[in-house]
Amino acid sequence: MADIFSKNKRSDIMSKIRSSGTKPEAAAYLLFRAILGHRRRIDTINSDILGHPDLFIPSLSLVVFVDGCFYHGCPIHGHIPKTHKKYWAPKLERTAKRDRRYRAKLRKQGYAVWRLWEHDLKSSCREHLLRVLEKKLSKKIEDAKSKHPLMAYQADEGVPSEDIPLARAAEAPAGWDENAEGKP
Ligand SMILES: [Zn+2]
Repeated sequence: MADIFSKNKRSDIMSKIRSSGTKPEAAAYLLFRAILGHRRRIDTINSDILGHPDLFIPSLSLVVFVDGCFYHGCPIHGHIPKTHKKYWAPKLERTAKRDRRYRAKLRKQGYAVWRLWEHDLKSSCREHLLRVLEKKLSKKIEDAKSKHPLMAYQADEGVPSEDIPLARAAEAPAGWDENAEGKP
């Protein structure tokens, strides 16, 4: 996996993920897909994993949550509304506690847990996030390879082969006349 994209490749990726119509979860998927290529599975429906993470990359045992700034209390935008404070304060506190509990449990279960804030996925922030994730994922892949060489190898199976398919190799080269074979 190349951790640095060429200028053209990057602008191609960016034209896809910069679109403001792309929701945060979908943008996160596109970013991970762009960086990981098509070699690794990325699951988006993870109802069997605690907390239902938005992304799960099995070959890296990595789960990713895309958390809304208000409900999950991001350090920049999280706040308790002045109206209905009695309702919101305990509710937001419960959510924050549950998030911490889930992350701890998932780590115990052997997952790496990454959290992306909704604000990091605003269309204007996605290019920056792409660069950050490129570095983080390269490191994660290297770590996974050194810890579980076999697993990292298996993750690369199913990659379309660059080799010339057998059928093509068996074809006659252009200009080759089989009737002429063996004749002077
Ligand atoms: Zn935020």
